[in-house]
Amino acid sequence: MKKIMCMLLAAALLSASACAGPMEPDLAAYDASGRAEIPVEILGELDEETREDLLAEPKYVALTFDDGPRADTTGRLLDGLLERGAAATFFVIGEQVPCNEALLQRMKAEGHQIGNHTYSHVRLLKADKDAVVEEVHKAETLLKEAVGEGDFWLRPPYGLIGSERAKLIKTPMIYWSVDPQDWKLLDKDKVVAAVMDAVQPGDIILLHDFYSTSVDAALEIVDRLQKEGYDFVTVEELFRIQGVEPQPGTLYARPDRVREVN
Ligand SMILES: [Zn+2]
Repeated sequence: MKKIMCMLLAAALLSASACAGPMEPDLAAYDASGRAEIPVEILGELDEETREDLLAEPKYVALTFDDGPRADTTGRLLDGLLERGAAATFFVIGEQVPCNEALLQRMKAEGHQIGNHTYSHVRLLKADKDAVVEEVHKAETLLKEAVGEGDFWLRPPYGLIGSERAKLIKTPMIYWSVDPQDWKLLDKDKVVAAVMDAVQPGDIILLHDFYSTSVDAALEIVDRLQKEGYDFVTVEELFRIQGVEPQPGTLYARPDRVREVN
């Protein structure tokens, strides 16, 4: 009987540790699918000129979210994106995969792209080469177990990876072209304003579904840009639309802009 109790206790502890809460990212280091359709009700609000522009030359943009999934924020974001017919890309931390499989399966089912943000959010620039391979592989394995086969493009934590370590990466790597620093502002209105000031067609916007203020900002950004005729697509789709074949081990700020690694 005592033995059974011990086993039950061990199992409880094991499951508790496997479901550890979301990891707070090391913020200081920052200082260094399917095509989504615009909902009819929004298209209906456009004036004739904007509607014609949209039909003639659609504007595409990719929202990307790092450091999730997080049960209490990512689910709400997925609800809002679904309601708006907007696709996005999620760069997921491997450690956050256990216990969040249902959210990941939902992302896939709803046409979002899932990417790799390493297993434990390490600074690849400083990690041993073996650790780089291990961090990427471990997250990829967990993602495959959760959602099946996929490419799982990499976003290096903090956007940092040296040229030697970049050669070890077998997928394209995605940086960003618009960074509102949502993790620092933690203010919906300021994040929305920062994105609206900077955004251009073809941009890749960096946000974090880790923060509730960022989820609120993202949904307002979708609302505002859809009214300007923007269509929200996955990163993979943005490359396809622009006719760019992404290369393994290359870091892209946008499909048409490679970011140097050194
Ligand atoms: Zn991150």
